[in-house]
Amino acid sequence: MKTTDIMQQLSRKHPGESEYLQAVQEVLESIEDVYNQHPEFEQAQIIERLVEPDRIFTFRVVWTDDRGKVQTNLGYRVQFNSAIGPYKGGLRFHRAVTLSMLKFLGFEQTFKNALTTLPMGGAKGGSDFDPVGKSDGEIMRFCQAFMMELWRCIGPDQDIPAGDVGVGGREIGFLNGMYQKLAREYHTGVLTGKGMTWGGSILRPEATGYGALYFTQHLLDKAGKTLKGKKIAISGFGNVAWGAAKKATELGAKVVAISGPDGVCEIADGITAEMIDYMLIMRASNRNKVEDMATKFPDKAVFKEGKKAWSVKCDIALPCAFQNELALEDAQELKRNGCWCCCEVSNMGCQPDAIHYFQHNGVLFAPGKAVNAGGVATSGLEMTQNAQHLNWTAQEVDDRLHHIMKSIHEQCVMHGTQADGTIDYVKGANIAGFMKVATAMLEQGII
Ligand code: GLU
Repeated sequence: MKTTDIMQQLSRKHPGESEYLQAVQEVLESIEDVYNQHPEFEQAQIIERLVEPDRIFTFRVVWTDDRGKVQTNLGYRVQFNSAIGPYKGGLRFHRAVTLSMLKFLGFEQTFKNALTTLPMGGAKGGSDFDPVGKSDGEIMRFCQAFMMELWRCIGPDQDIPAGDVGVGGREIGFLNGMYQKLAREYHTGVLTGKGMTWGGSILRPEATGYGALYFTQHLLDKAGKTLKGKKIAISGFGNVAWGAAKKATELGAKVVAISGPDGVCEIADGITAEMIDYMLIMRASNRNKVEDMATKFPDKAVFKEGKKAWSVKCDIALPCAFQNELALEDAQELKRNGCWCCCEVSNMGCQPDAIHYFQHNGVLFAPGKAVNAGGVATSGLEMTQNAQHLNWTAQEVDDRLHHIMKSIHEQCVMHGTQADGTIDYVKGANIAGFMKVATAMLEQGII
């Protein structure tokens, strides 16, 4: 297998699908050597099969806004790979959603889910619906209209969606309500990220951010460092950024920046518990403005319009917002300002040349599919609790999440340790995830 040949074929077949092609290229580059040591993979054409989704559903979503105007959006579910378990992955509601974006996310999800140690295949879905500025009523009507098509493609042993950007507990509630009405099935297992009174798992809302900090702890430990007293810059202020800020603060680090599409809030003395709680209110308002933090806490946060979190002096950068949010110039600015570690929490948050820069300039770097896997892993734990008709305690879920993040870190070290003793976490995560999925595909024949 040669990455360049496969990429050439793929870009001919899927012209213009830039995020999808970027995600595939990153994985192929890091697994090429290992793949070529296994002629049985080549014989079964594992790569050619693995880079194409099993199937894609696309549908029209029509709903009425508060002024009575009819709105039309596009809806999708990409069922990427089911070799190791039922399709599993979130739904993204964002105005920039395209099929290319969901294919990249579904592809990444396949490897990420394999890393969690749990039996879950990869999927992703969503819509170009823009939640910014929408009322609760509009969100509900959109979710109901979206589910009117999606319900036929999903099921508790088949495909289990969850949240992602623009989809949190409120949206999962509206989606689940409509699913039950349409399917006339009243089990709790078709979506994860549910509310605590109707089948949700304690700690699922926090899990992506908490898991990211547990992974960061292991990475720092391996490098002989700790989180205590370190300055952390976080991008975004949504669910993932919230969980990361909460756990980072609890572990003794200082969160000195959060950001939004409008700019950055610099928090010189570190974010407080009150401010972390306020992030939830900011997200629920659908205003999408981080400036609201500085308005609410004028003596603690300074808003800088148009600036990114990466302009704030820090030790550790945690991208928690959107793909490609950290460019080469940002990586260079971070390094100039003394940053020595970047754990990518968003999916494909760093551009390829930024990753390359980090890796060649002594900045520890770990990729999203390893760092953020605690979210989907805890979705897997929610599925187990649903299947058992039981609720575990916070302690039990947290212990399991800890254990899973430790195992993901170990897999990265096992497959990513280089001849000079350094650890390439990108290679490690990609090879570990790939080997599991490829072996499962091989053992199940040509299908
Ligand atoms: N959207 C999250 C992710 O990127 C969570 C998916 C899930 O819980 O199924 O992994």
